[in-house]
Amino acid sequence: MADYDSIVIGAGISGLICANYLAKYGRKVLLLEQSYHAGGNMSGFKRKGFYFDGGDQSFESLGLVFPLLEDLGVYDKQEWLKVRYRMVSKDFDFFIDSFDEVESSLIESFPQEARGIRQIFAEVRTVSRFLSQNYDPRSFPLVHDFSPGKLLGNAKWLPKLRNWLTYSYREKVCSVIQDPGLRNWFTRIGYYKMPYLFFSGFWHIWAHDYWYPVGGMQAFLDRLVDTFKAAGGTVKFRTSVESVLIKDGKARGVETGTGEQFTSSAVVYAGDYKRFVGGIVPESCFKPKFVRTVRSSRLTEALVSVYLGVDYTPEELEAQLKGGHHVFYFPNYEAIFPDQDSPRDIHKNMWTVINFFGIDNAKLTAPEGKSGIVLQTYSSHSWENYWHNTHESLPRTAAYKRLKKEVGYQLVETAKAILPDLDQRIEYFDCGSPLSLIRFSRNFAGASGGWCYHDKVSPVYRNKKLNMLRTPVESLYTCGHYALWPGGVISAALSGRLAANLAAGKKLLTPLGS
Ligand SMILES: Cc1cc2nc3c(=O)[nH]c(=O)nc-3n(C[C@H](O)[C@H](O)[C@H](O)COP(=O)(O)OP(=O)(O)OC[C@H]3O[C@@H](n4cnc5c(N)ncnc54)[C@H](O)[C@@H]3O)c2cc1C
Repeated sequence: MADYDSIVIGAGISGLICANYLAKYGRKVLLLEQSYHAGGNMSGFKRKGFYFDGGDQSFESLGLVFPLLEDLGVYDKQEWLKVRYRMVSKDFDFFIDSFDEVESSLIESFPQEARGIRQIFAEVRTVSRFLSQNYDPRSFPLVHDFSPGKLLGNAKWLPKLRNWLTYSYREKVCSVIQDPGLRNWFTRIGYYKMPYLFFSGFWHIWAHDYWYPVGGMQAFLDRLVDTFKAAGGTVKFRTSVESVLIKDGKARGVETGTGEQFTSSAVVYAGDYKRFVGGIVPESCFKPKFVRTVRSSRLTEALVSVYLGVDYTPEELEAQLKGGHHVFYFPNYEAIFPDQDSPRDIHKNMWTVINFFGIDNAKLTAPEGKSGIVLQTYSSHSWENYWHNTHESLPRTAAYKRLKKEVGYQLVETAKAILPDLDQRIEYFDCGSPLSLIRFSRNFAGASGGWCYHDKVSPVYRNKKLNMLRTPVESLYTCGHYALWPGGVISAALSGRLAANLAAGKKLLTPLGS
């Protein structure tokens, strides 16, 4: 007799959804998490009376996340804020509330580019129509409706999708802009060489489908832990899994860092994939070509985050940010992706986003009359010789701490374009590097959203499978932002349910509610 029916390794959003579904299906489930709390890339923390979201600041539903949360009974227990994006540079300052607004604001700033801007947004609107038809935030048509009518209705998009899934098509669409700076901005904004579908898709979700759980991401994730426990599940925090126990080609359980063993009939791994292949599971279980592909595949960018407790009242901050929840400031149109060769002052020249989720949220997450904000931009784990830390484990070197402070204040300087006296209002300061991301989520190199989105470089693209839920080991499954194309919260959440279906012996696409 095994100790459990299923063991889930990792309590990020994917592991939480997976564990919840397995418990809902009546399985005896153990959820193991190396950190002191749940959430991985979405987790948050409290310091000096301020709450901060550590990594991810908000997310899209795309007809996937909310229906899953509804099905688990968590959606209605949470207040959701529809977040507003604001983009600012020396030339423009606009909200992404509608494409009309964005288009007219950009045309006002770049009148000579009016034709090109209209062309770009005409195509963005087409993608937006496609996404609205198939990925309404609250309904889940892709799983509910496999009727011939629905499938035929979608067939018309296939020729377009072939183009939309490439970066080269994005370059082509954006080449209608003559101004080199603006063309560069349109071509590169987002993740590294993001295909056209994501470029347009981002404009769609920025306008219509980005959400924040009021009270903080951590409280929302803790709710998922509570639901799991209420359904009979067991969670162990501060428990790192070092290996999956495999006998006769079948997963039989796990062994933790302290040598403790738990047996089970199925195991779902919901953590970093590079550490999975040849780490948690011996390399010999995989085909050599697959191992090489996984090792060489590029990941999504890591970020640097600055956590600030400030003595602006929530009302004051709301007024200064004009009601924007993610306010991006672009000091230039370079859209840089830092790497090991980037100069020492690279973060000085980067865009910076100020994250602040409104008065109601601030009243729940900061001392009275104060506010917490998070500044972020892209960074790189390999930059400045791994941030002057030769290893990932604690304690950190003094040089690392100095560098983190220096970089953090560079972001503060950039944010002063929006909040001119920000440096005078700081009561609490901390900075999280890609190494911090690794620490709280174990994502290799601090990857934020899984594999790189470029159409040529990630294993899921190369294998043309679009998912890695199954593994060569019987009864061993994976979920998370690496396991299902394209990555991010939607893939992580959906893959959690799909892996639960497989581990429970159900059909992969079992409709919701059954
Ligand atoms: C700054 C930032 C901004 C982002 N913005 C967005 C956004 O706007 N939209 C969006 O869709 N996505 C965004 N993302 C990405 C999104 O947060 C992630 O894709 C998603 O949270 C991944 O969930 P996951 O469950 O797959 O993995 P993770 O969150 O990485 O969770 C994995 C968990 O497994 C645990 N674990 C790993 N190995 C072990 C082990 N051996 N033993 C025990 N536990 C283990 C880790 O500690 C972690 O808790 C962002 C991420 C960051 C960092």
